[in-house]
Amino acid sequence: MQSICVYCGSGMGNRPAYAAAARALGEAAAARSVRVVYGGASVGLMGALADAALAAGGEVEGVIPRRLVARELAHASLTRLHVVDSMLERKELMASLSDAFVALPGGIGTLDELFETMTWTQLGIHAKPSGLLDVDGYWQPLLALLDRQVAEGFLRRPWQELLCVERTPQALLDALATMRPGPGI
Ligand code: AMP
Repeated sequence: MQSICVYCGSGMGNRPAYAAAARALGEAAAARSVRVVYGGASVGLMGALADAALAAGGEVEGVIPRRLVARELAHASLTRLHVVDSMLERKELMASLSDAFVALPGGIGTLDELFETMTWTQLGIHAKPSGLLDVDGYWQPLLALLDRQVAEGFLRRPWQELLCVERTPQALLDALATMRPGPGI
């Protein structure tokens, strides 16, 4: 695994544990020489992740739509910043640059990105693993919903085949490095 795409909040959230987890993931990726691909912003958990990975000597690639650069939200000192024309183009490039996907706590943008990559795995468009970093139980309500989708017949295989969940960056990076999602349906 040479690169991970990280989806996370453009805000900081209300608990210090969220930014601490973003920084810890950035540092853990850098320590393994795993390149971080992310949304390219300097704000929120996104900025905390990128700053920590860069400070630890890691490589960080950002992919940001032109409209957000204009609002001066782009990170100024990344290894590489790709400026694209649309959110759709951005998602596609982020996915193609990455070997695996991680969601840290975040809002609807984070959910949108995570579920798109899981859907692509489910359909066999790619065979890349996704994982959640479950900081302070943030993602537990989402996992309950995934259980319900299986129980109600809307998710046709155990969600664990598409998504790994861990509480520390080290455990999550280990799990992603060995996870092989099944073939698409
Ligand atoms: P949210 O979880 O709603 O805060 O959205 C965060 C996700 O959406 C990130 O993973 C980004 O890829 C994207 N995103 C949202 N806001 C921004 C922003 N200001 N700059 C760059 N990317 C953003």
